[in-house]
Amino acid sequence: MKFNTKTIHGKQHPDKAYGAVMPPIYQTSTYAQTTPGGHKGYAYSRSHNPTRHALENAFASIENGEFGLAFGSGLAAIDAVMKLLKPGDEVISTNDLYGGTYRLFTSIFEGFGIRFHFVGMENAVNIENYINSNTKLIWVETPTNPMLNIIDIKVAASIAKKHNVLLAVDNTFATPYLQQPLDLGADIVMHSATKYIGGHSDLVMGALIVKDKNLADRLYFIQNASGAICGPQDSFLALRGIKTLHVRMQRHCENGRAIAEYLASHPKVESVYWPGFKSHPNYDIAKAQMKDFGGMLSFNTKGNNYEEAIKVVKSLKIFTLAESLGGVESLAGHPASMTHASIPKEEREKIGVVDSLIRLSVGIEDEEDLINDLKQALG
Ligand SMILES: *Cc1c(COP(=O)(O)O)cnc(C)c1O
Repeated sequence: MKFNTKTIHGKQHPDKAYGAVMPPIYQTSTYAQTTPGGHKGYAYSRSHNPTRHALENAFASIENGEFGLAFGSGLAAIDAVMKLLKPGDEVISTNDLYGGTYRLFTSIFEGFGIRFHFVGMENAVNIENYINSNTKLIWVETPTNPMLNIIDIKVAASIAKKHNVLLAVDNTFATPYLQQPLDLGADIVMHSATKYIGGHSDLVMGALIVKDKNLADRLYFIQNASGAICGPQDSFLALRGIKTLHVRMQRHCENGRAIAEYLASHPKVESVYWPGFKSHPNYDIAKAQMKDFGGMLSFNTKGNNYEEAIKVVKSLKIFTLAESLGGVESLAGHPASMTHASIPKEEREKIGVVDSLIRLSVGIEDEEDLINDLKQALG
């Protein structure tokens, strides 16, 4: 089955009760048993729920994995991965990282004795310099947020294999439409399904997908033991979102390209960060590991002026000034004061998150309307 078919049919079956094509929202905490332990595979909804189960199968299918796990948020999914570790273990992570992931790593898990190395991975061979006998996990986010750097997943995977370390990839920005990290050698794929997978800015959810049965069992144990699951209503919405992922992504990519090119030609714009430019430092890797370049981009206005950037984002009329990304509607954000405010100024400026940086999540509206909106806001 190819990708577009998988989004609709992958590991899905009509519901057993009445043949419903969409799995019903099984809004129940518990299930009647005929004798103690005698149930139909579902005993309690923290452990298993049929609607969530259908979604977890869809997650596994679209990422070419064997096992999917759904969580109450992207960060809850990352939290579950970190619970594979124990005090003294070390993690090598992308330095240009989603702010909430950075906060979870440094403010929660460092306190539990896990050590993090934040590394510029645009040249992925750099990862190897930080490996020692305590290294247990490599955490990769690509494209990165908000600088749209590209990390070579295959190179990261070969280093991980060589040293017997797990490789996890946050695939939120790319989605499996653009890249499938398990096929490139990753052990774990993570999503904030809040973003492109849900796709309609109407839910908060996380996902993990793996191939290996042992790893899946350990993660299922953590999912049930820690309990950060999502509810059946949100599972239903995410499943519905997945069914149009490929169509939405195609339009996100087309609009993203048009806007990146428009901004690059604008006299008030200093730089545009988008992996589809031949001048992007990792264009060749992006081209090789991604099917297209996505709908996320960032840009800087000339003069690096904070007030100017704020004025631009406040003047936008079709782009909504908001956190988050990946929905059908276009959003604009100011990373330094919004998504990345939890990263110290000095740290974020090192990776390019300066005060004048604006991030766009390009939606699926008409390209012309979006460009005109940017034109008036920059004017
Ligand atoms: C939003 C996001 C997360 C966190 O996910 P939540 O669903 O908000 O908990 C992690 N990684 C990336 C790249 C994100 O964009």
